[in-house]
Amino acid sequence: MTDKGHASRSDGSGLSTPPRIAMLGGTFDPVHLGHLRSAVEIGEVLGLDRVHMVPAAKPPLRGEPSVTPLERMALLCLGIGDTPGLVADSRELDREGPSYTAETLASLREEFGPTARLVMAVGHDAFLRLADWHQPERLFDLAHVVVIDRPGHDTPLSSALRAMVADREVEHPQALMASPAGQLLRLRLPTRMAISATDVRHRLASAASVRYLLPDAVEARIHDDGLYRS
Ligand code: ATP
Repeated sequence: MTDKGHASRSDGSGLSTPPRIAMLGGTFDPVHLGHLRSAVEIGEVLGLDRVHMVPAAKPPLRGEPSVTPLERMALLCLGIGDTPGLVADSRELDREGPSYTAETLASLREEFGPTARLVMAVGHDAFLRLADWHQPERLFDLAHVVVIDRPGHDTPLSSALRAMVADREVEHPQALMASPAGQLLRLRLPTRMAISATDVRHRLASAASVRYLLPDAVEARIHDDGLYRS
C-alpha cells in the first residue's frame, strides 16, 4: 500500500489514476488481529492507497457494546499504531443516530470524488445479513463490496441476498478496479484467522489469556483500564 490516496495517485507513467480506498467498518469491541491482518492483506491484494477502519458508534443490528465508542476508538488507534495504509477513522462517532454504512460510504465518496475506487470490505458473516442493512442497494451505488472469507463462517447466501448480488460478481481485483463502484468480489486472503471479538470478550471476562489475539498495546490498555471484566 502507498500512503498517498488523496484526490489521485500516480501509476508511474506520469498520469494520475483514481485513488483506491477501502472501508472496513465494525464494532471493534475490541479490535483484534483478525481485523488488522485482514485490513493489511485487503490493501495488498487490491493495491489500495488506504483502508479506513471505521468503528460504529451505534451498530444498528446489534445491542449496545459495553465499552464506549471513544474507548473502542482509542483501542483501534493503539492497534493500528504506525501501520502504513491503515487509518482509524472516527467519522461515525461524529454523527448522531444509528451508524449506517451507506452514510459513511457517501461521505467517503464525497471526500475522494466520483472516480475513486471505493470498496466496502466485510467478513462473510457480516455479508450474510447485507439484505437487512439500511439502503442495501445504495451501498452498491456508492462502492464495490469485497467479501472476506472467515474461518468457521461458511453459511450459504439467502435467496434475497443472492438476488441482490446476481450479475455483480467479478473474479479478479483488476475487474473490480476498472470501475468506481457496483461490483462484488469474494476474497480468500492469505492469512485467515479464526479470531472473534466475542471470543476475546469471553476470555477477558473469565481472566483467560488473550495473548497473540490482540496487539500488545491493545491488551495492555484493556488490562490497565479494567475493560471487559465480568
Ligand atoms: P463479534 O464477535 O463481537 O461479532 P467480530 O470479531 O465479528 O465481533 P466486528 O467488529 O463485528 O468483529 O467485525 C468487523 C468486520 O470485520 C466484519 O465485517 C467482520 O466480518 C470482519 N471480521 C471480524 N473478524 C474477522 C476475522 N477474524 N477475519 C476476517 N474478517 C473478520
